[in-house]
Amino acid sequence: MEIETRAIRGGDSVDPATGAVSSPIHLSTTFERAPDGSYPQGYIYSRTDNPNRAALEECLRDMEGGESAAAFSSGMAGITAVFQALSAGDHVVAPRDVYHGTARVLRGVMSRWNLDATFVDMTDLDLLRKAMRPSTRMVFVETPSNPLLKITDIAAVAQIAHEQGALCVCDNTRATPVLQRPLDLGADIVAHSSTKYLGGHGDVTGGVVVAAQSDGLFPNVRQVQQDAGSVPSPFDCWLLLRSIRTLPYRMRAHCENAAKVAAFLASHPKVLEVFYPGLPGQPGHEVARSQMAMFGGMLSVRISGGRDGAFGVASRTRLLTRATSLGSCESLIEHRASIEGSASETPDDLLRVSVGLENADDLVADLGQALEV
Ligand SMILES: *Cc1c(COP(=O)(O)O)cnc(C)c1O
Repeated sequence: MEIETRAIRGGDSVDPATGAVSSPIHLSTTFERAPDGSYPQGYIYSRTDNPNRAALEECLRDMEGGESAAAFSSGMAGITAVFQALSAGDHVVAPRDVYHGTARVLRGVMSRWNLDATFVDMTDLDLLRKAMRPSTRMVFVETPSNPLLKITDIAAVAQIAHEQGALCVCDNTRATPVLQRPLDLGADIVAHSSTKYLGGHGDVTGGVVVAAQSDGLFPNVRQVQQDAGSVPSPFDCWLLLRSIRTLPYRMRAHCENAAKVAAFLASHPKVLEVFYPGLPGQPGHEVARSQMAMFGGMLSVRISGGRDGAFGVASRTRLLTRATSLGSCESLIEHRASIEGSASETPDDLLRVSVGLENADDLVADLGQALEV
């Protein structure tokens, strides 16, 4: 079945107790045993499992084309569980411009547990090959990257990882399974911050990990989820599944709007550079075209006049909201260097835009007036 049908029907079931078509939210923390002590419905205790979480996991498992999925209380809880599934002394290769929270967990948390990490520009496959060691167990990919929207060839990275006996994990937050299905391209595990496009309305924090195979590393991920307990609430699972129903249609609109905004910005005299993989001539354009269905809803732009020029534009937008995060209905604009802190390599004149679902003409008009001084 196609992705729209999977999004609508995945994890779908009419409530057997009431006939409710929209599933109820199961807040109960515990579930009754049969007289013989068994659990006929399969649920025991809500840290271990919950019907709303099971439905969410089933939908995302199906949309990503994997065998198993585990939902978490945040994207970082899921990504951290993937690292915690490894062993002390294992080595991970990750992109230099990986999501800053992922870098912080590798450098700050997992290093204390003797998990070793090397950061490389993963768009350069030779650098990746050189970073591989006999102890490398995992190559972590994130594409499109943040905030420069660099594109990494997932199939090529997965092949390099597999040649060395390592797993390929892909953070698919910015593409979603609507635009890109890393497991089909050879990745072993997909991770998401469902706080972004999957939630899509800026009102729920969550994460999910989907594995191509139920064996291998996935049982360790499930163990961290259930035993360490970084699980989403039933209401958050319900909200997420409700949002995922419309994900394919929202993603299409995000992409169409982003393409229009990118084209406008690329032609504006105050704009030095636009980073959007959908623009022909961008370094990742051809790979993006081959591994993505559309080019995504994120773009970045360098404004003339340095930091002050960029800050000025962000201060004058009326429709675009100055806020971090991405993937929500409303368009967000952000000066990235200031949120990434002193270690940031992001240019000081760069603004990142999460293009929302307003009418693209209104977004272009707003950016147009913000760029005029
Ligand atoms: C936001 C984000 C995360 C972290 O997710 P949280 O839900 O904030 O914990 C991880 N990866 C990417 C690409 C993100 O954008």
